[in-house]
Amino acid sequence: MIGRHLLEVEDLGGAEGIEEVLRLTDSFVEVSERAIPKVPALRGRTVAWLFYEDSTRTRLSFETAAKRLSADTMNFSVGSSSVKKGESLRDTARTIEAMGIDAIVVRHASAGAPHRIAGWVDASVINAGDGWHQHPTQALLDCYTIRQHLGGIAGRHIAIIGDIKHSRVARSDVEAFTALGAEVTLVAPPTLLPPSLDGWPVRVSHDLDAVLPTVDVAYLLRMQRERMTEALLPSLREYTSTYGLTIRRAELLRPDAVVMHPGPMNRGVEIAADVADLPCSLILDQVRNGVAVRMAVLYLLLGAGTSLGATGPTDPSGSPETTQTRAEEATGE
Ligand code: ASP
Repeated sequence: MIGRHLLEVEDLGGAEGIEEVLRLTDSFVEVSERAIPKVPALRGRTVAWLFYEDSTRTRLSFETAAKRLSADTMNFSVGSSSVKKGESLRDTARTIEAMGIDAIVVRHASAGAPHRIAGWVDASVINAGDGWHQHPTQALLDCYTIRQHLGGIAGRHIAIIGDIKHSRVARSDVEAFTALGAEVTLVAPPTLLPPSLDGWPVRVSHDLDAVLPTVDVAYLLRMQRERMTEALLPSLREYTSTYGLTIRRAELLRPDAVVMHPGPMNRGVEIAADVADLPCSLILDQVRNGVAVRMAVLYLLLGAGTSLGATGPTDPSGSPETTQTRAEEATGE
């Protein structure tokens, strides 16, 4: 059962909690399609961003999500802040909180930074990516996108291909996909896999050509060169020739299989430029769904006061229907 925060996929409380967010997301997808895509659900609430690492999609979609829920937003840019003068993470977080905020969305290069902040402030903390560790809202939007296009996740075969070692997306996705009953195969050269896969409920392959005809989802990951401290590959060209989703390899996919990528893409490396734009590519759907999923998360943490798991502190029945009903009231459905 989740408390005030969303720090990792585990906080969602397993399949039931994930399903609850996905059901709520349906309501917010509908809001996003309205002529005026805005509801008053979080009027009077303030959400602040604390991004110590670059971001395009996550930051913009959290900001759009908060605005569509009528929350006030407080932007914090590390590059032009007192962090440059040596202010600590703790002092920075507590300074922002002193201005009166309800939630802080945090991205940090160090695994565990959002967890530390959650111990220092009373506001809700949402992890928007911490080092190699976790990126829970990415996992939620990926689950939502697969469910939307394939009708469900249970029993589906998902290959996660690329730099698994440095990927917080891979760690969060494996947890969420398998919690919902998918089979996951990691496809990567040995140097781009974590040193130990003990406890990972996955299969591993080094043969992309053999795996592609068996999958429902080919999920590509970028080389996270900003996290590589040693040379893990002979060359990018060699990586592409063995593990890149080229047009020739995309032809190995079943006709109903889909291609996904969390972005940013390095076209021509892990994914051929043309493959990213094929009809089977869901990459822009992932971005679109990211807004509605983050609306659902903000609403659950700040709006309803209920848990993201099956039961919640202010929702004695703990039933997802109760939360759904509240969301329907909030979205005017
Ligand atoms: N945008 C994703 C992340 O923040 C994936 C990536 O950067 O490659 O982890």
